[in-house]
Amino acid sequence: MQEIEVRRAIIKHARAMNALGINQGTSGNLSARRGDSMLITPSGVAYDRLTSAMIASMKLNGDGAWSGPSKPSSEWRFHLDIMNARPEAGAIVHTHANYCTALSMLRQPLRATHYMIAAFGGPDVRCTNYAPFGTQDLSDLAVEGLRDRFAVILGSHGMITIGRDLDEAMWRAVELETLAKQSWLAMSIGTPVILPDDEIMRTVERFRTYGPKESEDKAGARARKPTRRGEPT
Ligand SMILES: [Zn+2]
Repeated sequence: MQEIEVRRAIIKHARAMNALGINQGTSGNLSARRGDSMLITPSGVAYDRLTSAMIASMKLNGDGAWSGPSKPSSEWRFHLDIMNARPEAGAIVHTHANYCTALSMLRQPLRATHYMIAAFGGPDVRCTNYAPFGTQDLSDLAVEGLRDRFAVILGSHGMITIGRDLDEAMWRAVELETLAKQSWLAMSIGTPVILPDDEIMRTVERFRTYGPKESEDKAGARARKPTRRGEPT
């Protein structure tokens, strides 16, 4: 993919975050790996005003050096640190999705109350402690919370998902918010059943090997991006 296409894809997904209801205003941000650099949404620009030239670029080993014209998202630190800590991550999505953020206020991880937790690599999605936005402390918590996982909930803040590319990271973001909402609903009327770890790890393995299963129709009906890593049915 040419760089201009990656820039356009970032804008498309930024707008989709709000259209899908998993983000509000400009509180979220996205990044995509591009060789030894990272392309990232700029700080404080409304997504409908974004142009491909406004997407900031940062060297992965550049210690925060960036090229504009617009300065990168205030959360560039965790994007950069996650890209460096997780070479398999081609893209990162961060949003303040309502249900994930509600859980983050309760410091509540997502547990294995539904098999789709396996989409995030293990039997839970951790919730970190709080650290102020834009800080190295927050970045360190995010990287640690993502260990062996593709998602993390940030205490009193929001969530992060990673994927091989923007499509996969966005798919996970929608799935994470869906699971958070379903957990909320279940917890509001009772105590959800936790599935065993070994069952979840078998499902993680099935997710790895299932390949492209999800049809366009099904994906559309579920308001998801078509994915190469479809949901087992
Ligand atoms: Zn945030």
